[in-house]
Amino acid sequence: MSFERLGLSAAILRAVAEQGYSTPTPVQRAAIPAVLRGHDLMAGAQTGTGKTAGFALPILHRLAERATRGPRRIRCVVLAPTRELAAQVEQSFRDYGIYVPLKSTAIFGGVSPGPQINTLRRGVDILVATPGRLLDHVNQRNVDLSAVEILVLDEADRMLDMGFVRDVRRILKALPTKRQSLLFSATFSIAIKRLADEFLHAPEHIEMAHNNRPIELVSQRIHPVDKARKRELLSWLIGSQNWRQVLVFTRTKHGANRLARQLETDGLNTAVIHGNKSQGARTRALEAFKAGKVRVLVATDIAARGLDINQLPHVVNYELPNVPEDYVHRIGRTGRAGRVGEAISLVCNEEKTYLADIERLLKRELPKVAIEGYEPTVAQNPVKPAHNHHGHAKLQDSPAPMRSRRGKRHHNRRRNAGGGRAQEPSIL
Ligand code: AMP
Repeated sequence: MSFERLGLSAAILRAVAEQGYSTPTPVQRAAIPAVLRGHDLMAGAQTGTGKTAGFALPILHRLAERATRGPRRIRCVVLAPTRELAAQVEQSFRDYGIYVPLKSTAIFGGVSPGPQINTLRRGVDILVATPGRLLDHVNQRNVDLSAVEILVLDEADRMLDMGFVRDVRRILKALPTKRQSLLFSATFSIAIKRLADEFLHAPEHIEMAHNNRPIELVSQRIHPVDKARKRELLSWLIGSQNWRQVLVFTRTKHGANRLARQLETDGLNTAVIHGNKSQGARTRALEAFKAGKVRVLVATDIAARGLDINQLPHVVNYELPNVPEDYVHRIGRTGRAGRVGEAISLVCNEEKTYLADIERLLKRELPKVAIEGYEPTVAQNPVKPAHNHHGHAKLQDSPAPMRSRRGKRHHNRRRNAGGGRAQEPSIL
């Protein structure tokens, strides 16, 4: 199936071709015709599935097809939970809409509202926004939403997790009731279904077969380790495996800062993004990471939401998330758009219940590989060495061109102790 068969205009197909997309992804195959038909939509799709183009392409088509006269008015609103996601979604509208005469802008908190007000006054067709900042503009009458034809709630589950539901409801009140509404969510809780019942009208449902499961192309592995030795193990893995670009998740902002400082001390070029960082600092960190100037990006869940890094090969859960769905979101940062990725979790005894929740959600056990020299000491039972394990061979054979002095010391110590053997763990 090609994009040409989905009913999109030549101007949009040209932009899609320039993006290098040849075949629509499953969510695009399902969503594009439904949106073109003008239906409301409830779509289960996680990031990395191509869902953004799934709504942006048909929206651009519909808005361009029914051009309006007079000054530009906002005809489409996309609500996204984070600044990064809002910026990325808006960039997608620009990329896909390069040959149609529509203007878009993104508005979010953390930056001065002045330039946003000016852009809104000059007129835009498509507004991508985080709920809080949009509501501020609505309340201050900087923005007129009375001509909105299409509303999208992107990553709706995350929007609810982040406590935006009241803001979303208030924004809904400022929109015309006659409109097309689309809801995208990686997971469907009762709260999401309730919200969907409130604002979708006879929606078409799209549920990808593995809705709550990470993309099959991500290989996942657990390394059991004591909490106090996680940082050492992480530095060692990065150095010995020669990972050049790795996204590391921590649970807290404070933990992210601390880990980044320690990795820097270990000689690893590291940047941090979390909710307390200014927008400028986040953008700089992300750019440096994408450009390969920074090797490790440490992030909290909220800040990493919506990050789209092409060919990101490694994601590490330095700490497991306490919300199991976040695990799916995190590892969805790698293995995107058909590429192979690796997601590794460093799991200590204290996180056993989080791991159990994640495995329940995934409906399978994740492979556990203890790294010799870093085996957990807590509640340890005798262990059987793993044979022919993927992690085993790799850990022994990989070159270690970049290793910090501390990393080297640990590595040597490990080698003396038997050297990088992977073992089946017993504690988890
Ligand atoms: P999303 O799930 O919307 O965040 O998209 C994930 C990634 O897939 C982005 O980097 C897109 O540029 C890319 N992408 C979207 N659609 C396609 C497609 N049909 N073919 C190849 N890559 C795509």
